[in-house]
Amino acid sequence: MKLINLGNIGSLIGNLWHFDGEVKPLVSPTTGETWGKLHLATDAEIAHAIDYVRKEPVIDLIPHERGRVLRQIYHALLGNKEELAQAITLEMGKPIAEARGEVTYAANYFAWFAEEAKRIYGKGIPSSKENKKLEVLYEPIGPTAAITPWNFPLAMAARKMAPAIAAGCPMIVKPSSYTPGTFIMMITICYHSELPKNALHALIGDTKKIGNALMEAPHIRKISFTGSYETGRSLYIQGAHTLKKATMELGGNAPLIIFDDADLETAVDGAIASKFRMSGQTCVCANRLFVHKKILPTFLPAFIKKIGALKVGNPLLEETELSTILHPESLKKTEAHIADALKKGAKAHMGAKHPYEPEILTDVTPEMRIFNEETFGPVAPIITFETEEEVIQLANQTPCGLAAYLFTEGLKRSERLTKALRFGIIGLNDGSPSSVEGSFGGIKDSGFGREGGPTGIYEYLTEKFVSQKL
Ligand code: ADP
Repeated sequence: MKLINLGNIGSLIGNLWHFDGEVKPLVSPTTGETWGKLHLATDAEIAHAIDYVRKEPVIDLIPHERGRVLRQIYHALLGNKEELAQAITLEMGKPIAEARGEVTYAANYFAWFAEEAKRIYGKGIPSSKENKKLEVLYEPIGPTAAITPWNFPLAMAARKMAPAIAAGCPMIVKPSSYTPGTFIMMITICYHSELPKNALHALIGDTKKIGNALMEAPHIRKISFTGSYETGRSLYIQGAHTLKKATMELGGNAPLIIFDDADLETAVDGAIASKFRMSGQTCVCANRLFVHKKILPTFLPAFIKKIGALKVGNPLLEETELSTILHPESLKKTEAHIADALKKGAKAHMGAKHPYEPEILTDVTPEMRIFNEETFGPVAPIITFETEEEVIQLANQTPCGLAAYLFTEGLKRSERLTKALRFGIIGLNDGSPSSVEGSFGGIKDSGFGREGGPTGIYEYLTEKFVSQKL
């Protein structure tokens, strides 16, 4: 495989590159090689981007045209799938096969919102007065900003950029400082379409400086953020000064519940899909596995066998399922969570020698860190339970509320549990519920607002009520 080199990258404002700032090498954690040069945005460049969206606050295309451009972007991304996938793997170590999946996932947001752009229907409201006509119209909210994480450097940005363009809102994106290269490739490819030059801008550089400038600008009307609870909360407070609308997609602590009436194979495969996807480094990954006491003796050996067969290795190799390259924070936290659990009485079953290797823990209790904090690593902590009431209470025992998983063949039980679980997303016999056509988002400390799905576009629209006297 001949690896790509990005050359010089900087901030992109009005579809023009800006290279005035300090230079930093882009070093791949996967190969150890420098694969590009990054120019950090200067104060003047940050101010220029913010001023640009003030002067050109809407994408001046009718909805059908916006849809057409979004479809062009979808094709352009898929046309560059291999390079984009390689960039993801080089930059943050995701296995190449999964990276290809991410490119398709990101592209699909553009396809989905290409259709949504054309379906921004207004509403007619029957008036209580004979001489009045009442209407609700949906309009672009105005310039927007997005701050995105490293674990899906394309998909998390795509699901903010696509609805913003569909709604007619220019967007300034600040990608994660860990994965700016991949994101810059995507935004460049977006401009292979007939996208107007005021639609998308990228600022690369000092996180706090860029974050502060975006949050303080009164004309930026909306912020969409995916990342940690602490950062999201602080951005929300900052945005309150200018009354910005916000979508906050923060961390999770997903329970995955397996009842004694579950189909064993479905449950094992679902638990692996949910827990070990990208080595556990997604916010919807199962973080706590609740297994009914009766089925632990059959579930555990089946789980151990399949996990033992997962291929751990270099993420650039086709066959790799679990990468040896994880985010440094994920490695640290995984190691610390396993050590804490073992100290407090948990048992390890896989004998992992390194935090990137898969591990299973049993005898896990709510006193352990792993029960209470999102691990972001390939370790499956198992807690046993006996009654429905007990497991509902334990599953909900977290301030987070993003995803929860439930494995049961019982119709009434699934109805009861779906209602009782305080989470924004439920995977019912399904370990991978995320899709562009589904509503993604959490409740409680996992944030608010929805991305994708039938309501995602409304995050970027504002209502105008027209009362006409006839
Ligand atoms: P993670 O890096 O684990 O995804 P973070 O919340 O630390 O979660 O980061 C998510 C995104 O928010 C990244 O793009 C990061 O650079 C950015 N970020 C972190 N702190 C701030 C801040 N104070 N202001 C603006 N953006 C921030």
